[in-house]
Amino acid sequence: MTISYTPMLEQYREVKSRHSNEILFFRLGDFYEMFFEDAEVAARELEITLTSREGGQNTRVPMCGVPYHAADNYIAKLINKGFKVAICEQVEDPKQAKGIVRREVVKIVTPGTVLAENSLPDKANNYLALLYEEADELCLTSADISTGEFVWAVFAGSSRANLVCDQLYRLLPAELVLAGKLEGLAVISSFLAQRVPACAMTTLTNADLTVVSALPGHHFGDEALPASPAAQTAISYLLYYLHYTLKSDLSHINKLAAINAQDYLLLDASTLRNLEITRNMRDGGRKGTLLAVLDFTKTAMGSRLLKKWLEFPLLNPVAIAKRQDAISDLLDKRAVLDELKELLSDIYDFERILTRIEVGSANARDLTALRTSLAVLPAIKLTLQQCQSDLVTGIGGEVRSHVDVASMIATAIVDNPPFGVRDGGIIRTGYDLELDELRAIARDSKQWIQDLELRERETTGIKSLKIGYNKVFGYYIEVTHANTGAVPAYYIRKQTLVNAERYIMPELKDFETKVLGAQEKIVNIEYQLFAGIRDYIKERISEIQQTARQIAQLDVIMSLSEVAARYGYTRPDLNHKKELIIKDGRHPVVERLLTGEMFVPNDTGLNHHDSEIMIITGPNMAGKSTYMRQVALLTIMAQTGSFIPARAASIGPVDRIFTRVGASDDLATGQSTFMVEMTEAAQIIKFATANSLIILDEIGRGTSTFDGMSIARAVVEYIKDKVKAKTLFATHYHELTELAEYSKVIKNYSVAVKERGNDIVFLRRIVPGGADKSYGIHVAQLAGLPKRIIERAQQVLLELEQCKGQGGTDRTPLPAPLPAGRQQPAATISLFNSSIADEILAIDVMTLTPLEALNTLYKLQNKA
Ligand code: ADP
Repeated sequence: MTISYTPMLEQYREVKSRHSNEILFFRLGDFYEMFFEDAEVAARELEITLTSREGGQNTRVPMCGVPYHAADNYIAKLINKGFKVAICEQVEDPKQAKGIVRREVVKIVTPGTVLAENSLPDKANNYLALLYEEADELCLTSADISTGEFVWAVFAGSSRANLVCDQLYRLLPAELVLAGKLEGLAVISSFLAQRVPACAMTTLTNADLTVVSALPGHHFGDEALPASPAAQTAISYLLYYLHYTLKSDLSHINKLAAINAQDYLLLDASTLRNLEITRNMRDGGRKGTLLAVLDFTKTAMGSRLLKKWLEFPLLNPVAIAKRQDAISDLLDKRAVLDELKELLSDIYDFERILTRIEVGSANARDLTALRTSLAVLPAIKLTLQQCQSDLVTGIGGEVRSHVDVASMIATAIVDNPPFGVRDGGIIRTGYDLELDELRAIARDSKQWIQDLELRERETTGIKSLKIGYNKVFGYYIEVTHANTGAVPAYYIRKQTLVNAERYIMPELKDFETKVLGAQEKIVNIEYQLFAGIRDYIKERISEIQQTARQIAQLDVIMSLSEVAARYGYTRPDLNHKKELIIKDGRHPVVERLLTGEMFVPNDTGLNHHDSEIMIITGPNMAGKSTYMRQVALLTIMAQTGSFIPARAASIGPVDRIFTRVGASDDLATGQSTFMVEMTEAAQIIKFATANSLIILDEIGRGTSTFDGMSIARAVVEYIKDKVKAKTLFATHYHELTELAEYSKVIKNYSVAVKERGNDIVFLRRIVPGGADKSYGIHVAQLAGLPKRIIERAQQVLLELEQCKGQGGTDRTPLPAPLPAGRQQPAATISLFNSSIADEILAIDVMTLTPLEALNTLYKLQNKA
């Protein structure tokens, strides 16, 4: 039997039939209600009470609801859990409606299109990405609607899916839309599941894809479009999805930019991750990253841009020098920098405010924040006039003051407006004549009532007569029962209470109509005026956006200047010499984390003539990996335009940086460490060029010593002969140091270690020549392995070394195991390496009595 529901529920069902993939927030008065299955899901996920409502024909339907003013929090909660929410509003005034109020879905909120402030990370973009493939071109488009950014990129060739993954790692999209079939979907999906697990996936249906007809040229202008038809289609699809969800004209998304891989130093996902450029490996947060060290930005816009600069370092020395000049400029003028820091701290995230203005969700507080931000622009422009560098003076020229907008907000909006936009209290006195008059009426009403009360007391002689107000009866005159005899004839009785009677009279009712009408009108007029101002600003969004982008750049330059000054960074020389020379380089992050110890600076000298490959040996914990990462990080910083922690440097930009470092966390994916290592090595060999920088922290460890060593050696030889990339290779295989004998471009280095008695001291110095010992057992001792194990290991090592000396091989059997329960024979212990030696050394002989000495000797003897 089909139920005929109440008209309202029928309307709900009709809207819901078009929004089966979303949870429908259906506006009823002051609430968004959910019904049927949506109500059950939302009640569970939001932990709110599930009730029911009369549905017609004696049925009850499940229902739950949230107050409209608190809806953002609930929506954010659902979005975070991977749901999408369709917001259905009343689109006509209930008072004017004939029959049931018309309702329409006004927007759909998804993880990639959310705009509520509390759902967006301040210092990071919130990207919506889309993938589309056609004729072997894999197209990526991506937009951050909160800032108005829209970019596209095309990837071709057999590794296009991998290249897209690298890009997705940088964007870290909140939502990825798939349009049509993708050949590399499996690769991309498993990458996202592993590296960007929070990314929600949306698939455009065939119906969606056929709906898309508008060409992107309508939106961005034909001249802005890419030549590739596939890329154009991908842009159309993303625009379609944005229109579908936001239901606004998207005029703030007005700039289409290409990501041209050939303009940037390419950092693949694993390099970005391994080097902890913008996210740490532990929890994906900022702590301990290069970004965290360099970020002294004052605005959220600047912080987002700095992240981008680090993810997209440049290749062109001229472009890099422009940024460096700007930093030098501000460093030369510390007073200017300080003044700018002061000024920028008044600037809000107005890039995002503009978006809220565009989609109509900005409130009056957003406008005052915009005003405060714009108000400092003239001073910033003036201050920038003291600078000389192209970039900074360019910013000074491009920043506009937007005086019209600032002064309009200043004259129209009160200083501390309320959060809501429909309750009045927003517009300043003096801005609108009619509003002022209505307010006067409302304000004077109190006095008028007091006067009337006095007059009526006098004329009736009832001293306790009161005038009151309630929502049901409006204004009334209250007289206690004892005095009702004195009530004049023109009082009309309205209500009887226990002690009193309530009356009205025509004069009071006339007044009431005027006052209440005024209140309602005030609220309406205020909203109209506010909306008018919002529309006025909307017309100017794109020019204010330009200013926002300039301010972001200035903020990044300031941040890099600040960090350079604070931590003693210097300007590297970027040139075409194809060399990587660093004097006294320091690891920017490790040097900040060291507490008691000083960071030991190290040199690097890589070039194609006589030092292309550094083979670095040395014990664990000596500082090999810190050193190699340092070289990569300084290169990235230098190509970003930043100054670097070094005494001096000469750097020819590299095209890609590859890193192969510990892969323990990949174990979770079921691949063996060795397999992961080999896959990464294969990628490096395939893509590296003579202009690349390769960091190999040990390869071939996950297999037998001879296998591993052979692979490692073959890889190094291949890099030397074919790839010719600058390479830093840390290894435990001391045998690899032989390679330097056969090639002049391979150089051995080791981390200096000083032996002090039984201890070793790490000097953290990278010095020419291979290490002669690995000190692994020392490190094991430092790590707290029991003495017995350490001693046994020393014994095994000794025997192995003796065997090797006599021509043993990798397959040489280990020394015989110790029979269970037996102490090791004293003869094989090297006394000087044993714990007994430690104990003897610890004895203070001068204070020992002869008896104590004897006892000690006895104990030691028993131990041996
Ligand atoms: P390895 O790769 O040789 O095992 P690491 O590079 O991990 O060693 O270094 C171990 C620790 O030594 C680091 O965590 C750091 O605290 C410290 N360290 C490394 N290099 C330096 C340096 N140049 N100056 C000071 N401390 C350093």
